[in-house]
Amino acid sequence: MIETDVLIVGGSLVGLSAAAFLSWHGVPTLSVERHHGTAIHPRAGHFHLRTLEVLRSIGLEARVRAASEEQFDPDGGINAVESLAGKEIATYIANLNAGVAAVSPSTRLFMTQQSLEPLIRIRAEELGASLRYATELVAFEQDADGVTGQIRNVTTGETNEVRAKYMIAADGNRSPIRERLGIRTRGPGHLADCVTIYFHADCGAALRGRNLGVIYVFNQDLRGFFRLVRTGDSGFLAVMTLGDMSKPDALKIAQGITNERCVAFVHSATGMPDAKVEIEDVASWRAVAEVAERFTAGRVFLVGDAAHVMPPMGGFGGNTGVQDAHNLAWKMALVLKGLAGPDLLATYNSERQPIGELAMQQAYTRYVLRVVPERGKEGMQPLVDDLSMEIGYRYHSPAIVSEAGTGEALYEDPRRSKAMPGTRAPHVLLQRGGTRISTLDLFGKNFCLLAAANDAGYCDAARDAAVGLGLALDAYRVARGENVSDPDGRFADAYGLSDSGAVIVRPDGFVAWRAKDARHASTATVSAVLRSLLCRSEQAQASLAAG
Ligand SMILES: Cc1cc2nc3c(=O)[nH]c(=O)nc-3n(C[C@H](O)[C@H](O)[C@H](O)COP(=O)(O)OP(=O)(O)OC[C@H]3O[C@@H](n4cnc5c(N)ncnc54)[C@H](O)[C@@H]3O)c2cc1C
Repeated sequence: MIETDVLIVGGSLVGLSAAAFLSWHGVPTLSVERHHGTAIHPRAGHFHLRTLEVLRSIGLEARVRAASEEQFDPDGGINAVESLAGKEIATYIANLNAGVAAVSPSTRLFMTQQSLEPLIRIRAEELGASLRYATELVAFEQDADGVTGQIRNVTTGETNEVRAKYMIAADGNRSPIRERLGIRTRGPGHLADCVTIYFHADCGAALRGRNLGVIYVFNQDLRGFFRLVRTGDSGFLAVMTLGDMSKPDALKIAQGITNERCVAFVHSATGMPDAKVEIEDVASWRAVAEVAERFTAGRVFLVGDAAHVMPPMGGFGGNTGVQDAHNLAWKMALVLKGLAGPDLLATYNSERQPIGELAMQQAYTRYVLRVVPERGKEGMQPLVDDLSMEIGYRYHSPAIVSEAGTGEALYEDPRRSKAMPGTRAPHVLLQRGGTRISTLDLFGKNFCLLAAANDAGYCDAARDAAVGLGLALDAYRVARGENVSDPDGRFADAYGLSDSGAVIVRPDGFVAWRAKDARHASTATVSAVLRSLLCRSEQAQASLAAG
């Protein structure tokens, strides 16, 4: 019998992220992955601001950026063409990072999932995660105290029993764990049977010096998208439909796919009918838009594609999954350490399920608009801009103290949300020890109270409250002469505070509570707020006190 706190099933992008984030918070984990190693196909390639921010919080951003720049030029764009050598139809994004410096210390990037996964794996292991490849979960049961899983080494056939307090299902879009739990999915459903063609061909001339991370292709033969390496001599073409949607097999690209057909698709999409094309590999996959109706069942938590699957338009799939894992990790850590009540874990579902559904619907909207306009706009959500989707999404749950009159919206414009509770804490450039840092660099491990320059006593109140609760908490007065200063004088306004207000930011960088002025600066109030955020009910507190 192997014992661990959290058993993670699936060691791909999201399972590895869960292992890294939990290990960052000091939680013992065991991951099992059926494959012998990390991803062998590029798949996800467009990584959003929030993903880079959360990787930054565990000290991984710089390594990821360096690896990305080996493959892609930074700040590429996303456009649509009839063919690479032919006419341009649309520019969706001219420069991936235009305007980003004002809202984030990070930048978006392109990189293959194949190169990202090993970096997350290494970081997870550095932080203490235990990973077993060539090992699958074959059965599990849960009871009031934990989950018992049977794992099997796929090479040797050896089986072991694992006992964990919680289990994370990062087992991909067909998630046998989700099925087994009887959790249903909803959404537009199966859209098409697609292929991704990995090829070598010299596309340099057709690229004409354009710096493009994703190139949509829309012509009489096919609709899909390219992702090419910076030299333009290799990459992949994802074919999602035929060009002529009236053909009966227009959505069934994968059926009977041959090498010749792949070469013909590449010829058409590049607009280079005579180009020498070498097909390296072909992967078939189903484009699906669905979300699980709930992300939790007892002690089992769904993350990533197990919880939501969406067409790749907008690059939401993997990014949303990484952020699921980030939301869950600190909550599990605090519950496992006995510092939060178990209801904190229920907020994983109330916070992430609506955001997973929003992301799935927005990916579907982009699929209709960019790939199959024939589907029509009925039942399609209006397009929400990328920045609001990436760093503007908003949580509503007992782990947030919402302000009256702020409504139920699932996203806000991050340039205007001003630290509204439930939104990601805004980026403001500060100074610490002579070095420029972002507010975001103050978050990641502990709860954090930030008080404006004329702190009315919030820092002391928060420190006292934290001692009373046994909680690790950082408190900073953001002012000239303090450890953390605000040379540009932007902090209070960016956080919607008077000069005597304060905010509490959760370990995941989301604003949990905001006191706009001095009125709530007492240990009793801050302590009550923290107890509420930690879901420490009287009953839970009694059991915490009893050990
Ligand atoms: C062509 C294409 C382009 C894409 N582009 C983007 C993009 O630009 N940006 C983006 O964010 N996303 C993109 N995606 C989506 C992204 O690839 C997925 O969302 C992401 O891989 C999901 O990761 P995951 O870890 O949740 O699931 P998966 O990657 O599916 O991994 C699940 C893992 O669980 C393992 N597993 C399953 N059952 C068991 C078991 N019983 N025991 C042990 N192991 C098990 C599997 O072997 C697998 O490795 C794209 C997808 C495609 C197809």
